[in-house]
Amino acid sequence: MPYFYGLVMSIFLCVANIKLQCKPPRSYFVDLPHQKVLDLNATIANRVLNLEESATLASARKSREMREQGIDVVSLSLGEPDFDTPDFIKEAAKKAIDDNFSHYPPVNGFLELREAISNKFKRDNNLDYTPSQITVSTGAKQCIANVVMALINEGDEVLLPAPYWVSYKQIAQLAGAKITEVKTSVEENYKLSAAALDASLTQETKLIIFSSPSNPTGSTYSQKELEEWAKVLEKYPNTYILADEIYELISFEGTPCSLGSFPSLKDRVITVNGLSKGFAMTGYRLGYMGLPNALVGACNKLQGQFTSGANAVTQQAAITAVNANPSVVDDMKAVFKERRAKMLSIIQNLQGFKCNQPEGAFYLFPDISELLNATDKINTDIELCDFLLEKYHLAMVPGTAFGLPQHIRISYAASNETLDKAMERLTAAVKELLA
Ligand code: PMP
Ligand code: GLU
Repeated sequence: MPYFYGLVMSIFLCVANIKLQCKPPRSYFVDLPHQKVLDLNATIANRVLNLEESATLASARKSREMREQGIDVVSLSLGEPDFDTPDFIKEAAKKAIDDNFSHYPPVNGFLELREAISNKFKRDNNLDYTPSQITVSTGAKQCIANVVMALINEGDEVLLPAPYWVSYKQIAQLAGAKITEVKTSVEENYKLSAAALDASLTQETKLIIFSSPSNPTGSTYSQKELEEWAKVLEKYPNTYILADEIYELISFEGTPCSLGSFPSLKDRVITVNGLSKGFAMTGYRLGYMGLPNALVGACNKLQGQFTSGANAVTQQAAITAVNANPSVVDDMKAVFKERRAKMLSIIQNLQGFKCNQPEGAFYLFPDISELLNATDKINTDIELCDFLLEKYHLAMVPGTAFGLPQHIRISYAASNETLDKAMERLTAAVKELLA
C-alpha cells in the first residue's frame, strides 16, 4: 500500500513539475494571469483570474520586496506625492475623531461635503453639479469602478485613448466591456485629435474614459481642444464620457479645462476628482465625482452594497480641503515644476529617448523605440524595465501596462536625491545597452 501512495505522489509531483516548467518566464512587471497555471487555484472565479494586478502597484510591491531583502532599490514607479498632508487638513481629521465621527456616514457622502464639492466644481471648474449629483467614494478609483459597473453590460463598447491609466482597462474588462484602444504618439503630445476621436467613436460607444492632465503622459487638453471634442461628441448622443481630473491641482499652465463645462455635454459627462494627488492624501482614500442625474441612483446603490461609503473621518477632513483656496498647495506644485525641468533636461538628452513636455501630473513617458532599435540586448519596454530592476535596481513601469508599448513611465514624485540616483543608474544602463 505505501508503494501505491508513493507512486501516486510521484505522478502528481511529476505532473505539477511539468505544469510549472511550461509556465512562460515571469516578467517582474507583467504578471500573466498565472493562477490559471496552478490548478490549486481552480476555485477562483474567472473574473479574477482574468484580472491583472495593477501594474503600478505591482511595481511598487516588487521594489518593496527587494528592499526587504536588503537591496538598495530606487523606485520611480508609483504616482504618489512624496509630501505630507497639509497641517490644517490633518487638524480637521483629528478633530473629526475627537468629535466622534465614528458612525456609518450616508452612502453618497455627508451633505456638507457634497455641498462643498458642488461649490468647488463651480468655483474652480465652471461645472454645475448639485449636491445630490455628487458621490463621495473610497478614492477616485472607486468612483471609476462605480461608473463602469453601473453602465457597462457584457459586450458594451468602451473607448480608451492610449496611453491610458492602467486601471481603466482592467475595470472595464471586469465589467465585460468590449474595449477599443486608440493609440496616440509623442508627435501628437499623446492627445487624441477631434478627427481621430470622430473616427474611433460609433453610435454604440457607451463610454469613453480619459484623464487630463494625463497619467501617464502629463498631457493636458486645452479649452480649444476640448471644444473640438465637444462638437464631435454632440454627434454621439449615446456616449457617456468619464473625465478623470485627479491631477487638476498639479497643473503647470493654469487650471485645466473641464469637458463637463460644455453645456451640450452636461448630461453625459462624469467628472472624477479626489484628494490623493492635489492634497497629498493617497492613504486617506477619498475621491468624488459629479454625475449626470441618470447615473446617481445606480452608482449609489452599487456603493451601498460594496463599501457603505467613504471613511467618515476622512470625509470631515475633506470638507476642509475642498473648501480651501487651491493656492494652498502651490508650494508643492512649484517643487514638481522644478523637478519636471530637471528630469526633462536629462531624459530628453538620453540617446534613444524622445519625450514630450508634460503640462501637468508628475510623470514623464518617454518613447524608447529608438533605444530598442539600437540595441540587441533587449527587445521590449517590459524587458527594459526588467533589466533596469534586476541589474541597476531601478524601478519604472513599462508603457505596455498603459496600452502603449515602447515607452516607459517615470514618476518624479520623489526627492531630488532619489531622482539624481535614479538618473545616474538610468544613464549607466542606457550606456551599457548601446555599448
Ligand atoms: N485616476 C488616475 C489617473 C490616477 O493616476 C489615480 C491614481 N491614484 C487614480 C485615478 C486613483 O486615485 P485614488 O487614489 O483617488 O483612488
Ligand atoms: N495612480 C498611481 C499610479 O499610477 C497610484 C497607483 C495606483 O493607484 O494604481 O502610480
